Amino acid sequence: MKLPNFTEFEPFKQLRLSMGARKAGHFELFNPDKHLTGKERSELDQQGKLLPLHRLKYYADTTWGLKNTRVAIYLESASDYHLAQCKVTQAWEVNTSVWVSTRRTGNLPLGAHLASSRQVCADCLQLLNYKGFDLQKNRKIAYSKNLIQNFSREEFFRIYTLYPVQGLAEKLA
Ligand SMILES: [Zn+2]
Repeated sequence: MKLPNFTEFEPFKQLRLSMGARKAGHFELFNPDKHLTGKERSELDQQGKLLPLHRLKYYADTTWGLKNTRVAIYLESASDYHLAQCKVTQAWEVNTSVWVSTRRTGNLPLGAHLASSRQVCADCLQLLNYKGFDLQKNRKIAYSKNLIQNFSREEFFRIYTLYPVQGLAEKLA
């Protein structure tokens, strides 16, 4: 008996693509310990989440993560937010409650009904040398200050892919 060849069967090809499988038999099982669910992702975007610092991942490129997603983190009472493991965030205790969000535009959420206008942390951009950011070099000060004023999280999360973050070793906290 000859079995039909489904490798080129269009509906199956589409299904494999939508699962992120590059070839037949290649796909990653959903693991809720490592992957954010759709509900978690929408919550992080819309409301943010208050979590103890130790729940976050210290990605090796010095950005912050939750499972397989990069995040912005901030303290409720502060006027800034962080995208990297700068000296400010390194000084926080591991049990510190921090707001975590993936929102790319506008004010960062503090729950379902609140949001706050905040500025990106200069220490974070310095640590990442983001787009050549450097407040320690005289010739770059004006450029770097301008970069803070016009900072776009949307652009940041394109350069440092928001989701999914794969194959990035974690530093030990
Ligand atoms: Zn910072």
